[in-house]
Amino acid sequence: MAKSRYLIALGSNVPHHRHGSPRKVIAAALAALGQSDLKVEKVSRTITSRPIGPSRRAYANAAAVVRSKLDPPELLAALQAIERQFGRKRRGQPWRARVLDLDIVLWNGGTWVSPGLIVPHSAFRERLFVLGPASKIAGNWRDPVTGLSLRQLDARLRRS
Ligand code: AMP
Repeated sequence: MAKSRYLIALGSNVPHHRHGSPRKVIAAALAALGQSDLKVEKVSRTITSRPIGPSRRAYANAAAVVRSKLDPPELLAALQAIERQFGRKRRGQPWRARVLDLDIVLWNGGTWVSPGLIVPHSAFRERLFVLGPASKIAGNWRDPVTGLSLRQLDARLRRS
C-alpha cells in the first residue's frame, strides 16, 4: 500500500497563536503528518538556524522520512493542506516569515518534474538546515541527480 518513501523538510520561523514557538510548530506539524495519508518512519531532532534574507527570525528545522501511497503531486497537495492548517499564506515574498514550510526533498522513485513541483528539491544541496537533520536520519540515501549520499552532500557543504 505505502509504495513510496519520501524525505520531507520542515521549517518554521513564526510562532503559532496556539502551538507556540517555531520548535513547537515543528512538533505539531510532525503530529499532523502522522495523522494524514502517510506513515512517519523517522524524525530528526529539531535544529535552530539563522534567518535567511530579510526575514529577522531564527528558523526551526527538521526532517522526516515518510512512506505513502501518494504520488509526488498528491503528497505536495497534502503538505500544502497542512501548511494552510497552520495559517501559511501562499502569496508574498519568497523569504517572508512563515508559520510552516513543508518541502519534498527526495523521493525513492527518483526525479519528478511537473508544473509547480521539482523533486529532488532544487535548493536542498545548498542548505545545511536541510542536509544536517536529513543526513542524520537517512545518511545513505543518494541524491539521484549528483549520485552523492546525504552524508556526502552534508560533508561537502560543510567544507565549502
Ligand atoms: P516556497 O514558498 O519557497 O516554499 O515555494 C513553494 C512553492 O515551491 C510551492 O508552490 C511548490 O509548488 C513549489 N515547489 C517546487 N518543488 C517543490 C518541492 N520539491 N517541495 C515543495 N514545494 C515545491
